[in-house]
Amino acid sequence: MIRVGVNGYGTIGKRVADAVAAQLDMELVGVTKTSPDYGAEAALRRGYDLYAAVDDQAAAFEDAGLAIAGSLADLLDAVDVVVDCTPAGIGERNRPIYDAHGTPAIYQGGEDAAIADASFNARASGDVSEADSLRVVSCNTTGLSRLLAPIDEVYGVEKARVTLVRRGGDPSETDRGPINDVVPDPATVPSHHGPDVNAVLPDIDVDTAALKAPVTGMHTHSVNVTLEREPTAAEVRELLRDETRLFLIPERAGIDGAGALKDYASDLGRARGDFWENCVWEESISVEGRDLYLFQNVHQEADVVPENVDAIRALASDISREESVARTNDALGVGLESLLSEDGAPRDQVAADD
Ligand code: NAD
Repeated sequence: MIRVGVNGYGTIGKRVADAVAAQLDMELVGVTKTSPDYGAEAALRRGYDLYAAVDDQAAAFEDAGLAIAGSLADLLDAVDVVVDCTPAGIGERNRPIYDAHGTPAIYQGGEDAAIADASFNARASGDVSEADSLRVVSCNTTGLSRLLAPIDEVYGVEKARVTLVRRGGDPSETDRGPINDVVPDPATVPSHHGPDVNAVLPDIDVDTAALKAPVTGMHTHSVNVTLEREPTAAEVRELLRDETRLFLIPERAGIDGAGALKDYASDLGRARGDFWENCVWEESISVEGRDLYLFQNVHQEADVVPENVDAIRALASDISREESVARTNDALGVGLESLLSEDGAPRDQVAADD
């Protein structure tokens, strides 16, 4: 069993904690909180041991009647890997603490790439077996890497151009925006997302431009890739359909946006309406000469979660990448394509409680 601690129990941390707890080869030792808020209470109600992220806050948990199993230092001494899910920039401050305890760490995409020995995406990044720390790339970069890796392998990417319409904030982030506008963010082009893709796919020429929209559900990517070869749209559809972490939305599903996607995930019984897969509109996949076009949505709160689980195995085991992805997918129920397939082939049923 790989013993795992999660430092920072917010949007990403609580999902990573649940995903770790669902793995047969991992033990969630505990999660940290900075204050005894609703997240702390929810963690305890889920049966997770709670550790005080900041030593002088321990008394506040006691005052609130929430049992604390120890401090961050105690958690670090009890685990094989810590997954840092603190807000962007805090991971950098935590790094010396993890190093002092000799605890291998996984960081999130809000940190600079230099924080870890390697950036990670299970589908796209190369060998990380020598790394003692990893950084799981951001939600947008995860979504782009999963898409561009198979396309590059089979058709060759001459140049990718992507416009990212990003959600203004997560549903719980009442202080984010915009609330009534769509704003270029950054207004300079290219945005940082393309270079971040190069942290895991160094040879792909990709330019990104980014906007922010007053929505909380998902990011939307408008993708144009000039290929080295000229496939048919049907060939590209089949290529992408074979990827377990890409979900091709069939036209007949009647899913027209993030609202319906999240509704569908909720109807399937997925906790929090989470979509771990990229959601690619099948009918948007078009080829004009060597130019491929498509639209995809990525659920920013969820797509990095299976990647964190695979990053844990990459740091703390000899399990192959392929086997790790299979285990993670199996334990979480990642992979929806077969449910809505239109080819009449037998479908692998994914039960609502998967
Ligand atoms: P969040 O604000 O929802 O959660 C962070 C949690 O860490 C909060 O519970 C906060 O109280 C806690 N925290 C703050 N300081 C801490 C400390 N010193 N020690 C321990 N815990 C502390 O943030 P998030 O959205 O989950 O983002 C976490 C990381 O994941 C960031 O690097 C972010 O860029 C990245 N990320 C976020 C998203 C997203 O859409 N939310 C997607 C992919 C990657």
